[in-house]
Amino acid sequence: MEHSILIVGHPAFGQMIQAQLQPLTSSEIALAQSAMEAGLSMQAQSPDFVIIQGDDLNLAKGCLNLQSRSNFQWFYSLLIAGFELSPRNDVASQLRHQTHALELGADAYLTVEGDFNQQRCKLDETYGLLLKAQLRIGLQSADRYRDLVQTNDLLSTIALVDPLTELNNRRALDWDLPRQIKTARQGDRPFSLLIFDLDFFKRINDNYGHLVGDVSLKLLSARLRHNLRAKDTLFRYGGEEFVVLLADTPHDEAGEIARRLCNIISKQSFTINDDLELSLTVSVGVSELNEKDDVDGLTLLERADQCLRKAKQTGRNRVVVYS
Ligand code: GH3
Ligand code: MG
Ligand code: MG
Repeated sequence: MEHSILIVGHPAFGQMIQAQLQPLTSSEIALAQSAMEAGLSMQAQSPDFVIIQGDDLNLAKGCLNLQSRSNFQWFYSLLIAGFELSPRNDVASQLRHQTHALELGADAYLTVEGDFNQQRCKLDETYGLLLKAQLRIGLQSADRYRDLVQTNDLLSTIALVDPLTELNNRRALDWDLPRQIKTARQGDRPFSLLIFDLDFFKRINDNYGHLVGDVSLKLLSARLRHNLRAKDTLFRYGGEEFVVLLADTPHDEAGEIARRLCNIISKQSFTINDDLELSLTVSVGVSELNEKDDVDGLTLLERADQCLRKAKQTGRNRVVVYS
């Protein structure tokens, strides 16, 4: 499997590790000398394996801190320190250094004999084998993690996306609504919610069959998605019901958005196939978050739903805003 590898440290360190990696992988290898260079490289290539010169604890700290920043992906980190034993640099100080290095959160740590900065690095056979073994483990861990991320992405998609319309589903709304409410409250920003329900949709199924019903739901979803702002979030709430979360939006503006969407749906028919064009309309309920609403958004949803029922009772193809 191809990897993306980043080596951070003195150029002599980079060369030594690169030479050890060459027989193990044909992957792309980037080199950086400082934590800042490492950060830029991470942004550009999202490495899955980062090998850091571990005798420089500040460098190691800088690189490992980057991992905790959410815009960087996970990577497997290996610290490799060069050490020369001397009266000032005894085994105990080496072990203390190793303890500090591991506490920084590296996945693995290795000491080899030598000094990378002075370009004096004796890799005798035993150290060479140990280093190769650590590099091999790093590559395997990066593979395993990548598999895990892919599986996780697939499972999240299955759990949170409606297969028919490819919109976020009800479970996604249950997850997202409390978070958006929290963000709105923390920033003291307005927040509104729309609920849509297709008018007389049962007739479409009864007259043309369920497959035509399904196609119209897909076309309607695509049209809604293309007519919302980037900050709006659309969900398939139930069968032919949809919810839109409108961040940073007070109820009057939400009402305008709802009326615009109503028009976009009713003014242009939906082409089901060469022989069938269908006209659809929706009824919409709108409510804005207030300070008494619960953290999960249940009362906010309930008010929008009340408005939706009112829109249905008063003739359909219309918007009712809670006031
Ligand atoms: P109203 O204006 O009062 O909302 O009338 P309606 O006919 O839309 O309301 P009703 O709740 O009676 O019917 C909703 C219909 O939506 C019934 C159901 O068969 C249909 N429906 C729900 N989900 C799907 C789906 O995934 N595919 C298809 N084809 N139909 C669906
Ligand atoms: Mg309906
Ligand atoms: Mg319904």
